Amino acid sequence: MAKNLTTREEDYSKWYNELVIKADLAENSGVRGCMVIKPYGFAIWEMMQKELDRMFKETGHVNAYFPLFIPKSYFSKEASHVDGFAKECAVVTHYRLKNAEDGSGIVVDEDAKLEEELIVRPTSETIIWDTYRKWVQSYRDLPLLINQWANVVRWEMRTRLFLRTTEFLWQEGHTAHATKKEAIAEAEQMMHVYADFVENFMAVPVIKGVKTESERFAGALETYCIEALMQDGKALQAGTSHFLGQNFAKAFDVKFATKEGSQEYVWATSWGVSTRLMGALIMTHSDDNGLVLPPNLAPDQVVIVPIYRNEEQLEAVSEVANSIISDLRVKGIRVKFDNRDTHKPGWKFNEYELKGVPVRIAIGPKDIEKGTVELARRDTFEKIFIEKDKVVSKIETLLEEIQENLLSKALAHRASHTTEVDTYEEFKKVIKEKGGFVSAHWDGTKETEERIKNETKATIRCIPLDANTSSGSCMVTGKPSERRVLFAKAY
Ligand code: AMP
Repeated sequence: MAKNLTTREEDYSKWYNELVIKADLAENSGVRGCMVIKPYGFAIWEMMQKELDRMFKETGHVNAYFPLFIPKSYFSKEASHVDGFAKECAVVTHYRLKNAEDGSGIVVDEDAKLEEELIVRPTSETIIWDTYRKWVQSYRDLPLLINQWANVVRWEMRTRLFLRTTEFLWQEGHTAHATKKEAIAEAEQMMHVYADFVENFMAVPVIKGVKTESERFAGALETYCIEALMQDGKALQAGTSHFLGQNFAKAFDVKFATKEGSQEYVWATSWGVSTRLMGALIMTHSDDNGLVLPPNLAPDQVVIVPIYRNEEQLEAVSEVANSIISDLRVKGIRVKFDNRDTHKPGWKFNEYELKGVPVRIAIGPKDIEKGTVELARRDTFEKIFIEKDKVVSKIETLLEEIQENLLSKALAHRASHTTEVDTYEEFKKVIKEKGGFVSAHWDGTKETEERIKNETKATIRCIPLDANTSSGSCMVTGKPSERRVLFAKAY
Protein backbone atom coordinates (compact mmCIF):
# COMPACT_ATOMS: atom_id res chain seq x y z
CA MET A 1 0.00 0.00 0.00
CA ALA A 2 1.35 3.44 -0.87
CA LYS A 3 2.66 5.39 2.09
CA ASN A 4 2.90 8.66 0.24
CA LEU A 5 6.60 8.69 0.96
CA THR A 6 8.90 10.05 -1.69
CA THR A 7 10.81 6.98 -2.91
CA ARG A 8 14.54 6.53 -2.26
CA GLU A 9 15.10 6.48 -6.01
CA GLU A 10 13.32 9.82 -6.51
CA ASP A 11 15.10 11.74 -3.77
CA TYR A 12 16.95 9.91 -1.01
CA SER A 13 17.33 12.91 1.21
CA LYS A 14 13.65 13.87 0.95
CA TRP A 15 12.68 10.23 1.59
CA TYR A 16 14.73 10.26 4.79
CA ASN A 17 13.22 13.48 6.12
CA GLU A 18 9.66 12.40 5.32
CA LEU A 19 10.23 9.02 6.93
CA VAL A 20 11.54 10.52 10.17
CA ILE A 21 8.46 12.74 10.39
CA LYS A 22 5.83 10.22 9.23
CA ALA A 23 7.11 7.35 11.36
CA ASP A 24 6.77 9.69 14.33
CA LEU A 25 10.44 9.62 15.26
CA ALA A 26 11.33 13.30 15.51
CA GLU A 27 10.51 16.76 14.20
CA ASN A 28 12.16 20.14 13.87
CA SER A 29 11.72 22.74 16.58
CA GLY A 30 11.74 26.51 16.83
CA VAL A 31 15.52 26.41 17.20
CA ARG A 32 17.35 25.63 13.97
CA GLY A 33 19.16 22.32 14.18
CA CYS A 34 17.48 21.28 17.43
CA MET A 35 14.94 18.48 17.19
CA VAL A 36 12.07 17.19 19.24
CA ILE A 37 12.51 13.45 19.66
CA LYS A 38 8.99 12.01 19.74
CA PRO A 39 7.95 9.12 21.99
CA TYR A 40 8.38 6.43 19.31
CA GLY A 41 11.83 7.72 18.32
CA PHE A 42 12.79 8.05 21.95
CA ALA A 43 11.66 4.48 22.67
CA ILE A 44 14.16 3.24 20.05
CA TRP A 45 16.91 5.46 21.52
CA GLU A 46 16.09 4.03 24.97
CA MET A 47 16.52 0.50 23.58
CA MET A 48 19.96 1.54 22.31
CA GLN A 49 20.86 3.16 25.62
CA LYS A 50 19.79 0.14 27.62
CA GLU A 51 21.91 -2.26 25.63
CA LEU A 52 24.96 0.01 25.42
CA ASP A 53 24.74 0.77 29.13
CA ARG A 54 24.72 -2.96 29.86
CA MET A 55 27.78 -3.44 27.66
CA PHE A 56 29.65 -0.55 29.32
CA LYS A 57 28.92 -1.93 32.77
CA GLU A 58 30.00 -5.42 31.74
CA THR A 59 33.35 -3.93 30.71
CA GLY A 60 33.78 -2.34 34.14
CA HIS A 61 32.47 1.20 33.60
CA VAL A 62 30.22 3.21 35.92
CA ASN A 63 27.97 6.21 35.22
CA ALA A 64 28.34 9.72 36.64
CA TYR A 65 27.20 13.21 35.70
CA PHE A 66 29.21 16.39 35.09
CA PRO A 67 27.89 19.96 34.55
CA LEU A 68 26.46 21.32 31.31
CA PHE A 69 28.45 24.58 31.61
CA ILE A 70 32.21 24.75 31.30
CA PRO A 71 34.20 27.88 32.30
CA LYS A 72 35.81 29.34 29.19
CA SER A 73 39.25 29.25 30.82
CA TYR A 74 39.10 25.44 31.14
CA PHE A 75 38.42 25.19 27.51
CA SER A 76 41.51 27.00 26.41
CA LYS A 77 43.90 24.84 28.46
CA GLU A 78 44.38 22.23 25.77
CA ALA A 79 45.41 24.07 22.61
CA SER A 80 44.38 21.67 19.85
CA HIS A 81 41.10 20.91 21.64
CA VAL A 82 40.06 24.55 21.73
CA ASP A 83 41.10 24.99 18.09
CA GLY A 84 38.94 22.07 17.06
CA PHE A 85 35.81 23.17 18.89
CA ALA A 86 36.03 27.01 18.93
CA LYS A 87 33.88 27.44 15.82
CA GLU A 88 31.04 25.34 17.24
CA CYS A 89 30.68 26.67 20.77
CA ALA A 90 27.58 28.24 22.28
CA VAL A 91 28.63 30.76 24.93
CA VAL A 92 26.64 31.98 27.93
CA THR A 93 27.44 35.61 28.69
CA HIS A 94 24.51 36.79 30.87
CA TYR A 95 22.23 35.30 33.47
CA ARG A 96 19.20 37.60 33.45
CA LEU A 97 16.62 39.28 31.24
CA LYS A 98 14.60 42.43 31.94
CA ASN A 99 11.80 44.50 30.41
CA ALA A 100 13.19 47.06 27.99
CA GLU A 101 12.87 50.60 29.25
CA ASP A 102 11.20 51.74 26.02
CA GLY A 103 8.59 48.98 26.42
CA SER A 104 9.79 47.14 23.33
CA GLY A 105 9.90 43.75 25.07
CA ILE A 106 12.39 41.57 26.90
CA VAL A 107 16.10 42.30 26.63
CA VAL A 108 19.32 41.00 28.15
CA ASP A 109 20.12 42.73 31.43
CA GLU A 110 23.57 44.17 30.88
CA ASP A 111 24.02 44.41 34.65
CA ALA A 112 23.83 40.65 34.82
CA LYS A 113 26.98 39.92 32.84
CA LEU A 114 28.91 36.83 33.94
CA GLU A 115 32.40 37.47 35.23
CA GLU A 116 33.62 34.45 33.35
CA GLU A 117 31.74 33.32 30.27
CA LEU A 118 30.52 29.74 30.20
CA ILE A 119 30.63 27.30 27.32
CA VAL A 120 27.72 24.92 26.79
CA ARG A 121 29.58 21.61 26.65
CA PRO A 122 30.35 20.39 23.12
CA THR A 123 32.15 17.47 24.83
CA SER A 124 33.31 17.17 28.46
CA GLU A 125 37.04 16.36 28.50
CA THR A 126 37.97 19.70 30.07
CA ILE A 127 35.53 19.73 32.97
CA ILE A 128 36.09 16.05 33.63
CA TRP A 129 39.88 16.33 33.68
CA ASP A 130 39.61 19.34 35.96
CA THR A 131 37.63 17.05 38.29
CA TYR A 132 39.97 14.07 37.89
CA ARG A 133 42.81 16.19 39.30
CA LYS A 134 40.99 16.03 42.63
CA TRP A 135 40.27 12.32 42.35
CA VAL A 136 43.66 10.98 41.37
CA GLN A 137 46.69 11.03 43.65
CA SER A 138 48.16 7.56 43.53
CA TYR A 139 48.27 4.51 41.28
CA ARG A 140 45.66 3.05 43.67
CA ASP A 141 43.10 5.59 42.36
CA LEU A 142 43.47 4.27 38.82
CA PRO A 143 41.92 3.34 36.50
CA LEU A 144 38.87 5.61 36.48
CA LEU A 145 36.33 4.09 34.11
CA ILE A 146 33.48 6.59 33.89
CA ASN A 147 30.66 7.17 31.43
CA GLN A 148 28.01 9.86 31.28
CA TRP A 149 24.72 10.00 29.38
CA ALA A 150 24.11 13.62 28.45
CA ASN A 151 23.23 16.21 25.84
CA VAL A 152 25.87 18.31 24.11
CA VAL A 153 25.77 21.36 21.84
CA ARG A 154 27.86 21.89 18.72
CA TRP A 155 26.82 24.86 16.61
CA GLU A 156 26.54 22.96 13.32
CA MET A 157 25.95 24.88 10.11
CA ARG A 158 24.34 22.12 8.02
CA THR A 159 21.98 20.04 10.12
CA ARG A 160 19.88 16.92 9.40
CA LEU A 161 17.46 15.24 11.81
CA PHE A 162 19.42 12.73 13.93
CA LEU A 163 22.47 12.68 11.63
CA ARG A 164 23.83 16.08 12.53
CA THR A 165 22.00 18.26 15.01
CA THR A 166 23.07 21.27 17.04
CA GLU A 167 22.05 19.67 20.30
CA PHE A 168 22.36 15.91 20.44
CA LEU A 169 22.09 13.15 23.00
CA TRP A 170 25.02 10.86 23.51
CA GLN A 171 27.15 9.01 25.96
CA GLU A 172 30.73 10.00 26.58
CA GLY A 173 33.16 7.69 28.30
CA HIS A 174 36.21 9.29 29.95
CA THR A 175 38.83 6.99 31.39
CA ALA A 176 42.10 7.58 33.21
CA HIS A 177 44.95 5.05 33.31
CA ALA A 178 48.39 4.53 34.79
CA THR A 179 49.98 3.37 31.54
CA LYS A 180 49.92 4.18 27.86
CA LYS A 181 49.42 0.53 27.02
CA GLU A 182 46.34 0.28 29.21
CA ALA A 183 44.80 3.46 27.75
CA ILE A 184 45.33 2.25 24.18
CA ALA A 185 43.80 -1.12 25.09
CA GLU A 186 40.78 0.71 26.54
CA ALA A 187 40.29 2.88 23.43
CA GLU A 188 40.50 -0.23 21.23
CA GLN A 189 38.16 -2.19 23.48
CA MET A 190 35.46 0.48 23.24
CA MET A 191 35.70 0.54 19.44
CA HIS A 192 35.06 -3.22 19.53
CA VAL A 193 32.16 -2.77 21.97
CA TYR A 194 30.59 -0.22 19.60
CA ALA A 195 31.11 -2.46 16.58
CA ASP A 196 29.57 -5.39 18.44
CA PHE A 197 26.52 -3.32 19.40
CA VAL A 198 26.03 -1.75 15.98
CA GLU A 199 26.36 -5.06 14.13
CA ASN A 200 24.49 -7.35 16.49
CA PHE A 201 21.74 -5.06 17.71
CA MET A 202 21.33 -2.55 14.92
CA ALA A 203 22.21 -5.10 12.20
CA VAL A 204 24.43 -2.43 10.62
CA PRO A 205 27.82 -3.74 9.44
CA VAL A 206 30.78 -1.49 10.19
CA ILE A 207 34.43 -1.15 9.24
CA LYS A 208 36.77 -0.66 12.18
CA GLY A 209 39.70 1.60 11.64
CA VAL A 210 41.69 4.64 12.69
CA LYS A 211 41.28 8.19 11.44
CA THR A 212 43.98 10.06 9.56
CA GLU A 213 45.63 12.92 11.42
CA SER A 214 43.41 15.55 9.82
CA GLU A 215 40.19 13.69 10.67
CA ARG A 216 41.25 13.00 14.25
CA PHE A 217 39.40 14.33 17.31
CA ALA A 218 40.81 17.64 18.55
CA GLY A 219 43.27 16.70 21.30
CA ALA A 220 43.59 12.99 20.42
CA LEU A 221 46.73 11.08 19.47
CA GLU A 222 44.66 8.36 17.81
CA THR A 223 40.97 8.20 16.90
CA TYR A 224 39.50 4.74 16.43
CA CYS A 225 36.20 4.67 14.57
CA ILE A 226 33.48 2.52 13.13
CA GLU A 227 32.23 3.47 9.68
CA ALA A 228 28.95 2.33 8.14
CA LEU A 229 27.66 2.59 4.57
CA MET A 230 24.17 3.91 3.93
CA GLN A 231 21.85 2.77 1.11
CA ASP A 232 22.65 5.83 -1.00
CA GLY A 233 26.34 4.94 -1.01
CA LYS A 234 27.41 7.59 1.51
CA ALA A 235 29.39 6.67 4.61
CA LEU A 236 28.43 7.54 8.17
CA GLN A 237 30.78 7.71 11.13
CA ALA A 238 28.86 5.66 13.66
CA GLY A 239 31.12 5.91 16.69
CA THR A 240 34.54 7.10 17.82
CA SER A 241 36.97 6.14 20.56
CA HIS A 242 39.99 8.34 21.25
CA PHE A 243 43.39 7.69 22.75
CA LEU A 244 44.22 11.09 24.26
CA GLY A 245 47.71 10.34 25.50
CA GLN A 246 48.68 12.63 28.40
CA ASN A 247 47.39 15.80 26.72
CA PHE A 248 44.53 16.45 29.12
CA ALA A 249 46.47 15.30 32.18
CA LYS A 250 49.20 17.83 31.31
CA ALA A 251 46.68 20.61 30.60
CA PHE A 252 44.88 20.00 33.92
CA ASP A 253 47.86 18.85 35.93
CA VAL A 254 46.60 15.37 36.75
CA LYS A 255 49.54 13.40 38.17
CA PHE A 256 49.76 10.25 40.22
CA ALA A 257 52.36 8.63 42.43
CA THR A 258 53.53 5.38 40.85
CA LYS A 259 54.20 2.21 42.85
CA GLU A 260 57.86 3.17 42.78
CA GLY A 261 57.06 6.61 44.21
CA SER A 262 57.68 8.83 41.18
CA GLN A 263 55.12 11.35 39.86
CA GLU A 264 53.65 10.73 36.39
CA TYR A 265 50.92 12.20 34.22
CA VAL A 266 47.79 10.10 33.78
CA TRP A 267 46.86 8.54 30.40
CA ALA A 268 43.40 9.19 28.95
CA THR A 269 40.72 7.96 26.58
CA SER A 270 37.29 9.23 25.60
CA TRP A 271 34.63 7.57 23.46
CA GLY A 272 31.14 8.40 22.30
CA VAL A 273 28.12 7.45 20.25
CA SER A 274 25.17 9.74 19.72
CA THR A 275 21.60 9.94 18.47
CA ARG A 276 23.27 9.84 15.05
CA LEU A 277 22.94 6.07 15.44
CA MET A 278 19.20 6.56 14.88
CA GLY A 279 20.04 8.00 11.48
CA ALA A 280 22.29 5.03 10.73
CA LEU A 281 19.52 2.61 11.67
CA ILE A 282 16.94 4.35 9.49
CA MET A 283 19.21 4.82 6.48
CA THR A 284 20.52 1.25 6.50
CA HIS A 285 17.31 -0.79 6.59
CA SER A 286 14.27 1.28 5.75
CA ASP A 287 12.40 1.08 2.43
CA ASP A 288 9.88 3.08 0.42
CA ASN A 289 7.10 1.88 2.72
CA GLY A 290 8.77 3.26 5.84
CA LEU A 291 10.94 2.24 8.72
CA VAL A 292 12.30 -1.31 9.01
CA LEU A 293 13.48 -2.14 12.52
CA PRO A 294 15.76 -4.99 13.54
CA PRO A 295 13.91 -7.06 16.18
CA ASN A 296 16.66 -6.55 18.77
CA LEU A 297 15.95 -2.82 18.86
CA ALA A 298 12.23 -2.66 18.04
CA PRO A 299 10.23 -1.24 20.98
CA ASP A 300 7.38 -3.50 19.79
CA GLN A 301 8.65 -6.66 18.12
CA VAL A 302 5.15 -7.92 17.38
CA VAL A 303 1.85 -6.11 16.96
CA ILE A 304 -1.52 -7.85 17.01
CA VAL A 305 -4.33 -6.29 14.99
CA PRO A 306 -7.82 -7.67 15.61
CA ILE A 307 -10.29 -7.86 12.73
CA TYR A 308 -13.95 -7.79 13.72
CA ARG A 309 -17.38 -6.42 12.87
CA ASN A 310 -19.10 -6.52 16.26
CA GLU A 311 -18.49 -6.80 20.01
CA GLU A 312 -18.97 -10.55 19.99
CA GLN A 313 -16.27 -11.06 17.33
CA LEU A 314 -13.91 -8.71 19.17
CA GLU A 315 -14.35 -10.71 22.33
CA ALA A 316 -13.55 -14.00 20.59
CA VAL A 317 -10.53 -12.48 18.83
CA SER A 318 -9.30 -10.83 22.05
CA GLU A 319 -9.39 -14.12 23.89
CA VAL A 320 -7.03 -15.69 21.34
CA ALA A 321 -4.90 -12.54 21.22
CA ASN A 322 -4.53 -12.36 24.99
CA SER A 323 -3.42 -15.94 25.27
CA ILE A 324 -0.79 -15.38 22.52
CA ILE A 325 0.34 -12.19 24.28
CA SER A 326 0.91 -13.89 27.61
CA ASP A 327 2.83 -16.75 25.95
CA LEU A 328 5.00 -14.25 24.00
CA ARG A 329 5.70 -12.20 27.13
CA VAL A 330 6.82 -15.30 29.01
CA LYS A 331 9.46 -15.66 26.29
CA GLY A 332 10.49 -12.01 26.76
CA ILE A 333 9.04 -10.92 23.40
CA ARG A 334 7.76 -7.34 23.27
CA VAL A 335 4.19 -7.37 21.94
CA LYS A 336 1.48 -4.78 21.53
CA PHE A 337 -2.25 -5.42 21.10
CA ASP A 338 -3.82 -2.61 19.10
CA ASN A 339 -7.51 -3.03 19.89
CA ARG A 340 -8.40 0.63 19.46
CA ASP A 341 -11.83 0.94 17.86
CA THR A 342 -11.00 4.40 16.55
CA HIS A 343 -8.99 3.08 13.60
CA LYS A 344 -9.71 0.46 10.92
CA PRO A 345 -7.45 -2.60 10.48
CA GLY A 346 -6.24 -1.30 7.09
CA TRP A 347 -5.11 1.95 8.71
CA LYS A 348 -3.30 0.02 11.43
CA PHE A 349 -1.55 -2.25 8.91
CA ASN A 350 -0.28 0.87 7.19
CA GLU A 351 0.79 2.48 10.43
CA TYR A 352 2.83 -0.47 11.68
CA GLU A 353 4.44 -0.93 8.30
CA LEU A 354 5.47 2.73 8.38
CA LYS A 355 6.79 2.29 11.92
CA GLY A 356 8.76 -0.81 11.06
CA VAL A 357 7.30 -3.30 13.56
CA PRO A 358 9.05 -6.57 12.57
CA VAL A 359 6.06 -8.94 12.80
CA ARG A 360 2.35 -8.31 12.51
CA ILE A 361 -0.30 -10.76 13.60
CA ALA A 362 -3.83 -10.37 12.27
CA ILE A 363 -6.67 -12.36 13.84
CA GLY A 364 -10.24 -12.34 12.50
CA PRO A 365 -13.40 -14.45 12.82
CA LYS A 366 -12.31 -16.74 9.96
CA ASP A 367 -9.03 -17.45 11.74
CA ILE A 368 -10.92 -18.33 14.90
CA GLU A 369 -12.99 -20.86 12.94
CA LYS A 370 -9.87 -22.43 11.43
CA GLY A 371 -7.73 -22.13 14.57
CA THR A 372 -5.08 -20.11 12.70
CA VAL A 373 -3.64 -16.59 12.67
CA GLU A 374 -1.95 -14.56 9.93
CA LEU A 375 1.68 -13.53 10.39
CA ALA A 376 3.29 -10.84 8.21
CA ARG A 377 7.01 -9.98 8.09
CA ARG A 378 7.93 -6.33 7.71
CA ASP A 379 11.30 -6.97 6.03
CA THR A 380 10.09 -9.23 3.19
CA PHE A 381 6.31 -8.58 3.29
CA GLU A 382 5.88 -12.37 3.35
CA LYS A 383 2.61 -13.58 4.88
CA ILE A 384 1.83 -16.99 6.34
CA PHE A 385 -1.09 -18.61 8.09
CA ILE A 386 -0.15 -20.67 11.08
CA GLU A 387 -1.98 -22.74 13.70
CA LYS A 388 -2.39 -20.67 16.79
CA ASP A 389 -0.56 -23.03 19.13
CA LYS A 390 2.53 -22.86 16.91
CA VAL A 391 2.59 -19.06 16.85
CA VAL A 392 5.01 -18.48 19.71
CA SER A 393 7.75 -20.81 18.50
CA LYS A 394 7.30 -19.52 14.93
CA ILE A 395 7.68 -15.93 16.10
CA GLU A 396 10.81 -16.75 18.07
CA THR A 397 12.51 -18.12 14.97
CA LEU A 398 11.04 -15.39 12.76
CA LEU A 399 12.54 -12.62 14.91
CA GLU A 400 15.95 -14.25 14.68
CA GLU A 401 15.57 -14.69 10.92
CA ILE A 402 14.58 -11.05 10.42
CA GLN A 403 17.55 -9.86 12.49
CA GLU A 404 19.91 -12.02 10.40
CA ASN A 405 18.28 -11.10 7.13
CA LEU A 406 18.70 -7.37 7.77
CA LEU A 407 22.38 -7.77 8.58
CA SER A 408 23.06 -9.98 5.56
CA LYS A 409 21.20 -7.59 3.24
CA ALA A 410 23.27 -4.69 4.57
CA LEU A 411 26.47 -6.74 4.21
CA ALA A 412 25.60 -7.61 0.61
CA HIS A 413 24.88 -3.94 -0.13
CA ARG A 414 28.22 -2.92 1.33
CA ALA A 415 30.07 -5.63 -0.59
CA SER A 416 28.51 -4.53 -3.88
CA HIS A 417 29.34 -0.90 -3.07
CA THR A 418 32.98 -1.36 -2.15
CA THR A 419 35.38 -0.88 -5.05
CA GLU A 420 39.13 -1.30 -5.20
CA VAL A 421 40.80 1.16 -7.59
CA ASP A 422 44.40 1.82 -8.61
CA THR A 423 44.21 5.04 -10.60
CA TYR A 424 42.88 8.48 -9.71
CA GLU A 425 40.80 8.54 -12.93
CA GLU A 426 39.04 5.36 -11.90
CA PHE A 427 38.62 6.73 -8.36
CA LYS A 428 36.92 9.91 -9.56
CA LYS A 429 34.61 7.93 -11.82
CA VAL A 430 33.53 5.52 -9.06
CA ILE A 431 33.01 8.30 -6.50
CA LYS A 432 30.92 10.27 -8.97
CA GLU A 433 28.88 7.52 -10.59
CA LYS A 434 28.58 4.71 -8.08
CA GLY A 435 29.52 6.01 -4.64
CA GLY A 436 30.16 3.63 -1.78
CA PHE A 437 33.48 2.79 -0.18
CA VAL A 438 36.52 3.05 -2.42
CA SER A 439 39.68 1.29 -1.35
CA ALA A 440 42.81 2.91 -2.72
CA HIS A 441 46.48 3.62 -2.04
CA TRP A 442 47.39 7.02 -0.57
CA ASP A 443 50.84 8.46 0.14
CA GLY A 444 50.02 9.32 3.77
CA THR A 445 50.28 13.11 3.37
CA LYS A 446 47.76 15.78 4.41
CA GLU A 447 48.30 17.56 1.09
CA THR A 448 47.17 14.62 -1.01
CA GLU A 449 44.24 13.94 1.32
CA GLU A 450 43.17 17.59 1.06
CA ARG A 451 43.51 17.60 -2.73
CA ILE A 452 41.34 14.50 -3.08
CA LYS A 453 38.74 16.04 -0.77
CA ASN A 454 38.63 19.30 -2.70
CA GLU A 455 38.47 17.62 -6.09
CA THR A 456 35.99 14.84 -5.33
CA LYS A 457 34.35 15.60 -1.94
CA ALA A 458 35.45 12.13 -0.83
CA THR A 459 37.31 11.86 2.48
CA ILE A 460 39.38 9.13 4.03
CA ARG A 461 36.86 7.43 6.26
CA CYS A 462 39.46 5.31 7.96
CA ILE A 463 42.62 3.31 7.72
CA PRO A 464 41.01 -0.10 8.23
CA LEU A 465 42.43 -2.24 11.01
CA ASP A 466 41.84 -5.67 9.60
CA ALA A 467 41.79 -5.50 5.82
CA ASN A 468 44.47 -6.15 3.32
CA THR A 469 47.83 -4.62 4.17
CA SER A 470 49.65 -5.05 0.89
CA SER A 471 51.71 -2.05 -0.13
CA GLY A 472 51.48 -0.16 -3.41
CA SER A 473 51.74 3.35 -4.78
CA CYS A 474 49.53 6.37 -4.19
CA MET A 475 46.83 6.73 -6.86
CA VAL A 476 47.46 10.50 -7.01
CA THR A 477 51.20 11.05 -6.57
CA GLY A 478 52.62 7.60 -7.29
CA LYS A 479 54.61 7.76 -4.05
CA PRO A 480 54.88 4.60 -1.96
CA SER A 481 51.87 3.60 0.14
CA GLU A 482 51.98 1.12 2.99
CA ARG A 483 48.39 0.01 2.61
CA ARG A 484 45.02 0.79 1.10
CA VAL A 485 42.70 3.19 2.94
CA LEU A 486 38.95 3.60 2.65
CA PHE A 487 37.46 6.66 0.96
CA ALA A 488 33.84 7.76 0.61
CA LYS A 489 31.60 10.76 0.52
CA ALA A 490 30.17 10.98 3.99
CA TYR A 491 27.32 12.44 6.01
P1 AMP B 1 33.34 13.11 18.61
O1 AMP B 1 33.28 13.60 20.02
O2 AMP B 1 33.48 14.22 17.61
O3 AMP B 1 34.30 12.00 18.39
O4 AMP B 1 31.89 12.50 18.31
C1 AMP B 1 31.34 11.49 19.10
C2 AMP B 1 30.17 10.87 18.42
O5 AMP B 1 29.12 11.82 18.19
C3 AMP B 1 30.53 10.31 17.06
O6 AMP B 1 29.93 9.06 16.94
C4 AMP B 1 29.96 11.29 16.08
O7 AMP B 1 29.61 10.65 14.89
C5 AMP B 1 28.77 11.85 16.82
N1 AMP B 1 28.48 13.25 16.44
C6 AMP B 1 29.39 14.24 16.24
N2 AMP B 1 28.76 15.41 15.90
C7 AMP B 1 27.43 15.13 15.89
C8 AMP B 1 26.24 15.92 15.62
N3 AMP B 1 26.31 17.21 15.30
N4 AMP B 1 25.03 15.30 15.71
C9 AMP B 1 24.95 14.00 16.06
N5 AMP B 1 26.02 13.22 16.32
C10 AMP B 1 27.24 13.76 16.25
